Amino acid sequence: MSEAIKTDVLIIGAGPCGLFAVFELGLLDMKTHVVDILDKIGGQCAELYPEKPIYDIPGIPMVTGQGLTEALMEQIKPFNPTFHLNEMIQSVEKIGDPLFRVTTDAGKVFETKVVVIAAGGGSFQPKRPPVPGIEAYEGSSVFYAVRKMEQFRDKELLIVGGGDSALDWTLNLHPIAKRVTLLHRRDDFRAAPHSVEQMRALVADGKMDLKIGQVTALEGENGVLKGAQVKGSDNAVSTVVCDTILPFFGLTMKLGPVAEWGVKLENNLLPVDTEAFETNVPGIFAIGDINTYPGKLKLILSGFHEGALMAQKASRYVFPDKRVVFQYTTSSSSLQKKLGVN
Ligand SMILES: Cc1cc2nc3c(=O)[nH]c(=O)nc-3n(C[C@H](O)[C@H](O)[C@H](O)COP(=O)(O)OP(=O)(O)OC[C@H]3O[C@@H](n4cnc5c(N)ncnc54)[C@H](O)[C@@H]3O)c2cc1C
Repeated sequence: MSEAIKTDVLIIGAGPCGLFAVFELGLLDMKTHVVDILDKIGGQCAELYPEKPIYDIPGIPMVTGQGLTEALMEQIKPFNPTFHLNEMIQSVEKIGDPLFRVTTDAGKVFETKVVVIAAGGGSFQPKRPPVPGIEAYEGSSVFYAVRKMEQFRDKELLIVGGGDSALDWTLNLHPIAKRVTLLHRRDDFRAAPHSVEQMRALVADGKMDLKIGQVTALEGENGVLKGAQVKGSDNAVSTVVCDTILPFFGLTMKLGPVAEWGVKLENNLLPVDTEAFETNVPGIFAIGDINTYPGKLKLILSGFHEGALMAQKASRYVFPDKRVVFQYTTSSSSLQKKLGVN
């Protein structure tokens, strides 16, 4: 295990509510680290609907999921949070009053005075394709995410799927892989048209292969893959030689390890008070889609409000001797200084 990273506040989840929490905590001088399982910032907005319009963000008549994420990133820039992507918070342990030791699945350790759980619907987890025995190859020959492209240098890759992830990784990995075969169940792709055009051009130039069909069985032993049996749209079965498979069948949300952190759960949500959005454990707050209280609306604007009130109480844990003075950003020169606008 690595040496503990010390921070005022650790935010679990880089969705819109986690991002806005950085802003509210920053205005009150609290330093933040933000951890997310995904390889990108923005939670559901960036992962599930980056190009869809949102019409109910106060003061912004229309913004896309990705647009909102980018605007929030711009807004929190003055507070310079540290992001830890591709890492899942595994455990949260109380070691002081309040002080928490928080660990990620990559072995990173944080010591933090306050924990803000902004984990939305829980952890995004890849959907496993219905191929018998695929579990035996996971982590050795079958991967649901690309953490480091170099891992796939000189590999015979079978990439499965028809969405943006499948197409993006096909285009990014084909220059370093030995050979890439893209497999999709029909010759019609959900991915961005430009990516599909680029992929078809590579196929036409003989630089990669495209197959239409579905994987029905895997060939190999002891986790080492040699090939995949593919049933085509004409029901003919053929073998694609490959040593690595990257299936991109989308993500589902599961509560994941939140259930083991010692905070009270109610129907897979975290009950909180409505003064500070604190859980039953002092110093652990829950904001956004993950929390519940009478009248809760799972809207981004609710999570923003929750972040503002949470920050007031969090400040009392981080700076027990400091009195929080209520100020407007419009008129407070000290807040404007923190924002770098004065
Ligand atoms: C199609 C669609 C359209 C929508 N349209 C609107 C709309 O118009 N207006 C509106 O207000 N809302 C809308 N919503 C809902 C809105 O997106 C959510 O309310 C919002 O994303 C909640 O934000 P959040 O920050 O609480 O959680 P999320 O956006 O879910 O982010 C949570 C993050 O936490 C991470 N995480 C979870 N567990 C862990 C862990 N253990 N370790 C590390 N990271 C973890 C996840 O990977 C995720 O990135 C829509 C939702 C969908 C699906």
